[in-house]
Amino acid sequence: PMLRKTLVAGNWKMNPGSLAEATELASSLAAHEARDVIVFPPFPFAHAVTSVLGGDKVGSQDICHLDTKGAFTGEVSGPMIAALGIKTVLVGHSERRVFFGDDDDVVAAKVKQTLALDDVTCMLCIGETRDERDQGITVDICNVQLSKALAGIDAALMDRVVIAYEPVWAIGTGLVCEPEVAQDTHAAIRTCLAAIYDEDIAANVRVLYGGSVSPASVDDIMSMPDIDGVLVGGASLVPDSFFRIIRFE
Ligand code: PEP
Repeated sequence: PMLRKTLVAGNWKMNPGSLAEATELASSLAAHEARDVIVFPPFPFAHAVTSVLGGDKVGSQDICHLDTKGAFTGEVSGPMIAALGIKTVLVGHSERRVFFGDDDDVVAAKVKQTLALDDVTCMLCIGETRDERDQGITVDICNVQLSKALAGIDAALMDRVVIAYEPVWAIGTGLVCEPEVAQDTHAAIRTCLAAIYDEDIAANVRVLYGGSVSPASVDDIMSMPDIDGVLVGGASLVPDSFFRIIRFE
């Protein structure tokens, strides 16, 4: 990808277990600056991690779908996230969709709330289940998730959208999608973006791959023309693994 900058993102999920470990992980990363890197710590650690890495390198794992503040116990609003200086919000992760009921409408509302913030990027996750892949409907599923999540999003905002293609069956399972197979889906995602918007946007939006990326798999994945980076879960918590992933060849 000539026009598109690569990006490596680390999704810490509900890890690590202590603030001290979180700041240590962030500090080790600060010493390893290389390409564009973003980590997504849990909310309670976000302020400390942002102090270490700066807001450009820190993302929020989620955002409230509502355009308000008020009586919504447990929720975190877009302006609260922006107030920390955080510049990226993860939306639609399969764990949110599966365990917490984030359906396509909620995901669409979260995309809207993210893009309503000044200068904040939305990293939108899409991907099929094992069953859907076996049925041969991977591209249909991605197209539906993409179209619904981006419904009503103006073309002018698309420079603040990054897509993360994450086959659900590859997340946390050690099963990496074959690079050529992932490449086909990434190309299909661009075709879908071209249909919703235009060829220019399809060519410029970054599309990351996620699903059990490791030091052993990252180089082959990153050699694919339509794969612009990786979203890493488990391996992002292991400094040596994450550093090797950042230094993909
Ligand atoms: C993820 O959480 O987005 C992810 C891809 O996890 P893992 O790398 O552990 O499969």
